[in-house]
Amino acid sequence: MRDSSDTGQSATPPACACASWALRKIMLLGSDTVDFLDREFVRVAERTPWVYLVRCRGCGHPWYAAIDTVDDEYYFRRLTSDEVDAIERNGVWPTDYDGFASVWPATSGESMDRVRKPWSK
Ligand SMILES: [Zn+2]
Repeated sequence: MRDSSDTGQSATPPACACASWALRKIMLLGSDTVDFLDREFVRVAERTPWVYLVRCRGCGHPWYAAIDTVDDEYYFRRLTSDEVDAIERNGVWPTDYDGFASVWPATSGESMDRVRKPWSK
């Protein structure tokens, strides 16, 4: 006779990192989460050293991820399969992070209307 209590295993696997996230997720970058991105996600493509296309290691869902090393935050935005195709086939990235101050290489003489912590408002 088999009894579910004898293995100690639950029928439901543990939820992945992103299962409960909404369309957008902001996460603090701290000592507990310094390796969060690589622990929970696979980097699929890199736009800048701080902006990536990633996939959840648990469920495989694609996310547009940014690491703000000035304000110490991660940003994630859910991607559709069409958006993933645009990135992988045509190098066309979503514009979500274009206004972010701290996820782009510094370019001299450039004056963009980029702001810090735009999702925090
Ligand atoms: Zn997931």
